[in-house]
Amino acid sequence: MKRARKRVLVAGGAGFLGSHLCERLLKDGHEVLCVDNFFTGSRENIRHLLANPYFEVMRHDVTFPLFVEVDEIYNLACPASPIHYQFNPVQTTKTSVHGAINLLGLAKRTKAKIFQASTSEVYGDPTVHPQTEDYRGNVNPIGPRACYDEGKRCAETLFFDYHRQAGVNIRVARIFNTYGPRMHPNDGRVVSNFIVQALQGQPITIYGDGSQTRSFCYVDDLIDGFIRLMAAPDDVTGPINIGNPGEYTIRQLAENVVRLTGAKSDFVVKPLPQDDPLQRCPDITKARTLLDWQPTIHLEEGLKRTIAYFADQLGVEVA
Ligand code: NAD
Ligand code: UDP
Ligand code: UDP
Repeated sequence: MKRARKRVLVAGGAGFLGSHLCERLLKDGHEVLCVDNFFTGSRENIRHLLANPYFEVMRHDVTFPLFVEVDEIYNLACPASPIHYQFNPVQTTKTSVHGAINLLGLAKRTKAKIFQASTSEVYGDPTVHPQTEDYRGNVNPIGPRACYDEGKRCAETLFFDYHRQAGVNIRVARIFNTYGPRMHPNDGRVVSNFIVQALQGQPITIYGDGSQTRSFCYVDDLIDGFIRLMAAPDDVTGPINIGNPGEYTIRQLAENVVRLTGAKSDFVVKPLPQDDPLQRCPDITKARTLLDWQPTIHLEEGLKRTIAYFADQLGVEVA
């Protein structure tokens, strides 16, 4: 008999995206097992969920085997910002590769459906724009971003091989830059950096000339895409781009943040990091047609909500 209340494992559930996913799954009436080694995640992110009797937290590193009984698995375990994933690059690759093997082994044994949080980084510095899922990417395999990009590419390989070889029911989402409440204030990502700098009246650090582009998706839209992909028919394995096709230069983002915070901050130019992609924008035709999904929260609204979160965290008033 199929139970309406599913037992769902969220690996990386104490992180930015994971905590929002746990919250959504509990709201939808499921049991959630949050597995995390707290490398970049925190108990603070999930504190509001701890009193829920259907929520359980397990401190565990996914590079080691895990034996639990579940119906669905979301694999989000992996540091996501360059500062964090470059802190211990060998561990980053291990997390993506060994983590995928263990969770796929678990999915194979329990016949659970398994979701992989892949990334637009599999496209590297793209030569096709906007990026469609059939574009194979332009990744430097020996550069400082490779531990993340190649780890995620190998995880995708493992997902499709477990699918073909062992019949595992897989879902692979390629996530584009996402922002919102519970981003880490100090992980160096552009949205959190700019908002924190603006709220503290510090200069806004633009790397390079600021003409590089990114497409920013608000976290609630992204999580809705995850849920739809997991619920889609079994032949919808992905990979499928989930992101907001609204594309902005980094300078435009900085101008928006300064305007919305009412900050007096100046812009300072810093060197562009090695292998920093010049442009990034998802083609979401597949998500639109297969999942009936598209983002609904405009950058302006999403930034206002994120600014309100950081202002509260930092104890400052927005002008
Ligand atoms: P995050 O760093 O906030 O969350 C990652 C979580 O995984 C953290 O809680 C961390 O402690 C945990 N973790 C790391 N290594 C682990 C290990 N070995 N075992 C168990 N837990 C481990 O990052 P996020 O932004 O929430 O990203 C979540 C996932 O989404 C990641 O897989 C990331 O690659 C992917 N992603 C995120 C974005 C984005 O813009 N945020 C974009 C593309 C892909
Ligand atoms: N695994 C796990 N939990 C399970 C089943 C498997 O962590 O419930 C791990 C197992 O330890 C192995 C990996 O997943 O290292 C891959 O499992 P699989 O069955 O594919 O491979 P095998 O055990 O045959 O090497
Ligand atoms: N960036 C910036 N100033 C910052 C942080 C980042 O100009 O303080 C730039 C960075 O060089 C990149 C873009 O913003 O071009 C997005 O960076 P992030 O680290 O958020 O994401 P990713 O490069 O992984 O897409």
